[in-house]
Amino acid sequence: RVGYELNGGFGHLSAGGKIPLGLKSKSLRILVTGGAGFVGSHLVDRLINRGDSVIVIDNFFTGRKENLFHHFGNPRFELIRHDVVEPILLEVDQIYHLACPASPVHYKFNPVKTIKTNVMGTLNMLGLAKRVGARFLLTSTSEVYGDPLQHPQAETYWGNVNPIGVRSCYDEGKRTAETLTMDYHRGLNLEVRIARIFNTYGPRMCIDDGRVVSNFVAQALRKEPLTVYGDGKQTRSFQYVSDLVEGLMRLMEGDHVGPFNLGNPGEFTMLELAKVVQDTIDPNAQIEFRPNTEDDPHKRKPDISKAQRLLGWQPTVSLREGLPRMVNDFRQRIFGDDKDLTV
Ligand code: NAD
Ligand code: UDP
Ligand code: UDP
Repeated sequence: RVGYELNGGFGHLSAGGKIPLGLKSKSLRILVTGGAGFVGSHLVDRLINRGDSVIVIDNFFTGRKENLFHHFGNPRFELIRHDVVEPILLEVDQIYHLACPASPVHYKFNPVKTIKTNVMGTLNMLGLAKRVGARFLLTSTSEVYGDPLQHPQAETYWGNVNPIGVRSCYDEGKRTAETLTMDYHRGLNLEVRIARIFNTYGPRMCIDDGRVVSNFVAQALRKEPLTVYGDGKQTRSFQYVSDLVEGLMRLMEGDHVGPFNLGNPGEFTMLELAKVVQDTIDPNAQIEFRPNTEDDPHKRKPDISKAQRLLGWQPTVSLREGLPRMVNDFRQRIFGDDKDLTV
């Protein structure tokens, strides 16, 4: 898809209609909310490399300018410090709406703010999309399935979510964000896309964000014991970030609203993950058991047949391939050197 520009002003005439006289073809102008975060910054890299113009809005709650330093000075890149809970006026062709803390430690830190970000933030971005006729993509989550009673989880499953628990600000927040997205689509003909993202890891994750992969990797590098919560038999499926970004872009450019599960079906118990981390970083790393957190889902694994069929997408990077790439990044940020400790 291409957008069109008239006298420097940016229209939203990219829906495939005739190009009015005097308009010249140009690359898309794309808004990435939460673009200073882990996933968002990798998405921005791909969009900039593709030749698009990218505006990032981020309040830097969990994101970092460092993730985007390499685009500073590029005329096709803009970074705005802004909280999506507040309205904003921009002219764009597409919106990737990522702004929301993703780690349980971060989203539980200020649960009311998490709800506001998911509800008011998503409403504002949908209002913006409506005003300018932009296509809108929501990054929802596998957490909408809660502690799932169906395994693996297909998009048709409605989930098993505690509405009053400590994770609800995120789970129910994202469920409401999905509802808003579908109501703008049905009621106002907005072009929307919904991705349900499963656990994703890779370079630029916050080092101390409390998520299991970042915890284990940082702990192994620092020669601290790996903290396994509960009995370690709960499962997750870990997706490398480049696979996710490819899936998000295919979803945005494709013809299907979704929701689509985007995740890697390779399922690991936390003890198995600890073993992969030991094999990758330090075979002598110790394991320390800790009490599990409240409402922790027992298992999670995406059924990705819908994304395979309709988006032609599936992950290509296994955990054993992806983990060393993340380890290199963590080692540099923790120790500030380039020494390769991976085996
Ligand atoms: P992240 O915390 O690294 O990035 C989130 C970004 O949003 C940060 O830059 C943060 O500063 C920004 N942000 C948060 N609240 C904001 C607000 N009110 N206004 C403006 N900016 C705000 O997390 P991530 O892993 O990159 O996740 C990105 C998106 O993907 C999130 O919506 C998350 O729910 C979703 N997701 C991620 C995963 C995963 O495993 N990484 C899994 C499921 C869903
Ligand atoms: N909004 C925004 N930027 C825009 C257009 C709308 O932030 O360019 C916000 C607006 O302030 C409102 C929300 O999006 O809070 C929903 O807008 P919509 O027009 O759908 O609803 P209304 O303003 O009629 O309630
Ligand atoms: N977990 C763990 N050790 C840690 C951090 C997390 O065993 O140091 C477990 C946690 O209890 C959960 C799983 O790892 O069962 C995934 O947790 P994470 O916070 O990464 O993501 P979630 O899928 O729960 O959002």
